[in-house]
Amino acid sequence: MIALAPTAVAIECDQCGRYHRYPPGAAGDLNCPQCGHAHGSLQASWTAREDCSICGCRHLYRRKDFNQLVGLAIIAVGAILAVAISYWYLLAFSLLDLVLYRQVRDVAVCHRCGAEFRGAAGTAELPLFEHHTAEIYQSADSVAGQP
Ligand SMILES: [Zn+2]
Ligand SMILES: [Zn+2]
Repeated sequence: MIALAPTAVAIECDQCGRYHRYPPGAAGDLNCPQCGHAHGSLQASWTAREDCSICGCRHLYRRKDFNQLVGLAIIAVGAILAVAISYWYLLAFSLLDLVLYRQVRDVAVCHRCGAEFRGAAGTAELPLFEHHTAEIYQSADSVAGQP
């Protein structure tokens, strides 16, 4: 067995809008550090194969835990150097971007509450982000009383 790092959750509070990353291994009740709003609880043994620990939603997806702005910035710097010095820079920076992208781990995200789970077992088995499923949850949110 490979010892996995404990799962770290990040949630945007739907009451005050504060985005907070809880430290890895933070289990039990998760409350917003700003307004005290109870998000839900996380079990230490939770895996991405289960329902969302925060809202109970079945649909989680995975995406790269990669700040896209960083990727764009790398390409932009490469493009500037390419124009100023040599086009080889653009190629080199594109490769760097690709290498960085491959290094980045997946993060499990809940379709409904948007909670992010880093380092949870089973993340790699989740489907990638799907617009169709996202739309179902967005329209369910706008219709009051729908599950
Ligand atoms: Zn809050
Ligand atoms: Zn959720």
